[in-house]
Amino acid sequence: SHACSNMLICCSTNISYYQCCNVENACYSAGLCAERTAISKAVSEGHKSFKAIAIASDLEDRFISPCGACRQFMREFGSQWDVYMSKSDGSYKLMTVEELLPSSFGPDDLRARENH
Ligand SMILES: [Zn+2]
Repeated sequence: SHACSNMLICCSTNISYYQCCNVENACYSAGLCAERTAISKAVSEGHKSFKAIAIASDLEDRFISPCGACRQFMREFGSQWDVYMSKSDGSYKLMTVEELLPSSFGPDDLRARENH
C-alpha cells in the first residue's frame, strides 16, 4: 500500500473535491484504498456521474496506478471517464477506465442477463 493518496473526483454536474486516503486495517484485506474511499464519499453525497479522478502519491519513480479492485469499482460508474495517475513531482499519465480495465464486466452486463 502507498503511504498517502489524495483523490479528486470531478462530477459532471459540478466540480467536487474529495480529499481521501487509504483506510488501512490490521487485517490488510479489510483496508480500503483511497480511490474507493473517494468514490464512496462522493456517492454518499449523491454523485454517480464522474468525469475524472486524480490519484496522487509520494512515488517518485513511477506513476501511481489503481489496483484491480479499484478499477472494477470505478467501472461501476462507467468506462469512459478519466483517471489521472501522478508522480510526486506533479507529472501525470492519463488513461480512461476503459483503458485500465478493458473487456470489463459492469452493470450493463447484469441488465443484459436479466433480459434473457
Ligand atoms: Zn485500490
